[in-house]
Amino acid sequence: QVRVRFAPSPTGPLHIGGVRTALFNYLFAKKHNGTFVLRIEDTDQNRYIEGAEDYIIEALNWCNIPFDEGPGKNEKFGPYRQSERKALYKEYADQLVASGNAYYAFDTSEELNYHRTDHESKGKTFIYNWHNRLKLSNSLSLTEAEVKAKLDAGDDYVIRFKSPQDQTLHLKDIIRGDIKIDTNILDDKVLFKSDGMPTYHLANIVDDHLMEISHVIRGEEWLPSLALHYQLYTAFGWEAPQFAHLPLILKPTGKGKLSKRDGDKLGFPVFPLEWNPEFGDIAKGYKEEGYFAEAVVNFLAFLGWNPGTEQEMFTLEELIAAFDLDRVNKAGARFDPDKIKWFNHHYMQEQSNEDLAEAFQKNHEQLATIDVNYIALVVGLVKERATFVNDFWNLSSYFFVAPESYDEKASKKAFKDDTKTIMTDVLGIVSNITDFEVETLQKDVKGWITSNEIGFGKVMMPLRLALVGALQGPDVFDIMFMIGKNESIKRIKKLID
Ligand code: GLU
Repeated sequence: QVRVRFAPSPTGPLHIGGVRTALFNYLFAKKHNGTFVLRIEDTDQNRYIEGAEDYIIEALNWCNIPFDEGPGKNEKFGPYRQSERKALYKEYADQLVASGNAYYAFDTSEELNYHRTDHESKGKTFIYNWHNRLKLSNSLSLTEAEVKAKLDAGDDYVIRFKSPQDQTLHLKDIIRGDIKIDTNILDDKVLFKSDGMPTYHLANIVDDHLMEISHVIRGEEWLPSLALHYQLYTAFGWEAPQFAHLPLILKPTGKGKLSKRDGDKLGFPVFPLEWNPEFGDIAKGYKEEGYFAEAVVNFLAFLGWNPGTEQEMFTLEELIAAFDLDRVNKAGARFDPDKIKWFNHHYMQEQSNEDLAEAFQKNHEQLATIDVNYIALVVGLVKERATFVNDFWNLSSYFFVAPESYDEKASKKAFKDDTKTIMTDVLGIVSNITDFEVETLQKDVKGWITSNEIGFGKVMMPLRLALVGALQGPDVFDIMFMIGKNESIKRIKKLID
């Protein structure tokens, strides 16, 4: 039974890298008919941010990768917020103390800082483990009576893991293969604090075990914790899940890890949804910037994974079918903001004109009273050149309102000495057409141009200028047909007035 979890800490909005982790967990779970669990790791009360949990859930829902079990949903292994499981962790910490795998330590932060600075001044790093344990203040260096006295007096304590000396640990990672670690370099990590809260390490292992997690899929930044996590499973006598550490996400330059601040500096969002807008550009979200969730998901799937074929466009169903951890790379994945736009453009082409028209209409008051079927026809003519729904207005406003002014450069190019005379004739032809269809327009206007041996540009450019206000847009006769006879006549008249 595959059971995976996404275990964010609610310390702020979910970074796009977190969404990638959630997505890979989701894809793996669905691929293997497993369960995708959401667990909120909120044991660090100092870093807790109001609203972050709601944000995480909304982001997963927007991406269409909802969890199967989690806060408020199928709570059979619940609760799924670690703060609500608080009472349970102490028992496990005590169990490790009783079995000799952990111990109480009473060093104050001043003392620890002193050692740290002292070591650093000699160019060394201070590691709290077997080599200096007995010189520090803990239950391995104090008598039983001294320990009891400290605990009875209510002294602050932590419970530390007792990392063994001179052992080689053999760790396994699905993506990275076998990893060997010498325990002599490992710290005696803190598992529990006297405020009654477990640290990330203890809570994470206990919960993964109790929630029967089969595979831990998480970011590379957790790889250094893997040795401790393995040892905790051994110390508890539990079977460890399988681990897969996903590659880092790199800045667009390929140098260094993508950070939450990069979005602001480099001008692209690093969050799925907008966070508190008071933070300005830094808080922008893909959703609000006009990206389709499918495009974001498709893009994220390729950050560290590839299908081994040329195919780039994948629906969620196709991703589930194609995904597996053995095609996830070790090497960091470069975040390319142009590529996500590329995906958005392609998704746009696959949307129905009617759906896009509705979204377009919602964004623009000027369109409120216009028939949505007409808007859909317009969308069909311009969407090939659009990346976002927000591009539509600039590409197509002339289908709805006459140009207020003419582009200066375009005017110079299109408007010559004889333009007025030519356009007066064109106006006459257009006015005489009774069945105002594209073919008729084409036949009559082009026929007139040919029989009078006038250059095509001399007619088509000013005609386009009159209709569009610039020298862009789809076929001139399509535009005339769309805006209709009266409006076409009005715009040509305005040009030669
Ligand atoms: N709470 C950790 C985080 O914020 C979870 C790491 C893990 O998946 O083990 O990423």
